[in-house]
Amino acid sequence: MIILKSPQEIEKMRVSGKAVGEILAELKKTVAPGIKTSELDSLSADLIEKKKAKSAFLNYHGFPSYVCVSVNEEVVHGIPGDRMIQDGDLVSIDFGLFIDGYCGDSAFSVVVGKSDPKKEKLMQVTEDSLFAGIEQMRVGNRLFDISHAVQKVIEENGFSVVRDFVGHGIGRQMHEDPQLPNYGSPNKGPRLEVGMVLAIEPMVNMGTHQVKVLEDGWTVVTEDGLPSAHFEHTVAITENGPEILTIRPE
Ligand code: MG
Ligand code: MG
Repeated sequence: MIILKSPQEIEKMRVSGKAVGEILAELKKTVAPGIKTSELDSLSADLIEKKKAKSAFLNYHGFPSYVCVSVNEEVVHGIPGDRMIQDGDLVSIDFGLFIDGYCGDSAFSVVVGKSDPKKEKLMQVTEDSLFAGIEQMRVGNRLFDISHAVQKVIEENGFSVVRDFVGHGIGRQMHEDPQLPNYGSPNKGPRLEVGMVLAIEPMVNMGTHQVKVLEDGWTVVTEDGLPSAHFEHTVAITENGPEILTIRPE
């Protein structure tokens, strides 16, 4: 069942979404060659405490960290640790928290250090696909209009859409109905309504769309070892169209 949020609830989700955007902006400033992924986790823990927020990730089904850091062939759910970020790595950072009982969830990818045009294109297309999906979040459209718009941008650029993981409704829980695939046929699925809040999160691979989970039980990697990128925003449907709740301040 899709839970519609009242204007008062959306107001609370603006607060948690803003905090997520601010923390991701700090993480983006920090990520660089020579940094260990565990340092991004400690920083996330500090920032979340400053906001008096509760982590959405720590202990979620046993996840051990405050943030997911997924490098190159890692798609999502990378566990921070001793891995040192290298020049030219494509790093995806996913972060979520609760404030006053409401969740915000967002992610970005960045190529650190020396430029790598192929990885940068993958990153840009992934972000563009997210915004194409957000643009469809309007009353009168249907859920899979979002999915279709995301898929179109990705495949027109020669990349592939991960099937095994999807976006989701969000509110008092991080993961609510509906599931939101990043592929699908237009004019299908539930009609979009004011008060729906969705986390759209395309995961885009340079090569095959096939992925597998490593032995740690979390880290998702591409089957062919080629890079993957991930962008996500928590977005509310309002009478005036989509409102991105997790914008990162520059
Ligand atoms: Mg996320
Ligand atoms: Mg999510």
